[in-house]
Amino acid sequence: MSERAAPFYCPYCGDEDLFPHETGHGAWECRACNRAFQLKYLGLLSRGVRSDTGGGDGI
Ligand SMILES: [Zn+2]
Repeated sequence: MSERAAPFYCPYCGDEDLFPHETGHGAWECRACNRAFQLKYLGLLSRGVRSDTGGGDGI
């Protein structure tokens, strides 16, 4: 089980030019906008995982 989560797009500029930042621990750098950011796992939501696939969400 890894805590690593790889973002697909930069949350700031939306580019895909992401590389792991040297500080590690979920840190990434975007070479398109030259920003560094960090992803952090905050924990599971208290409401738990939804298991119903039906529902009235207009699927
Ligand atoms: Zn960016």
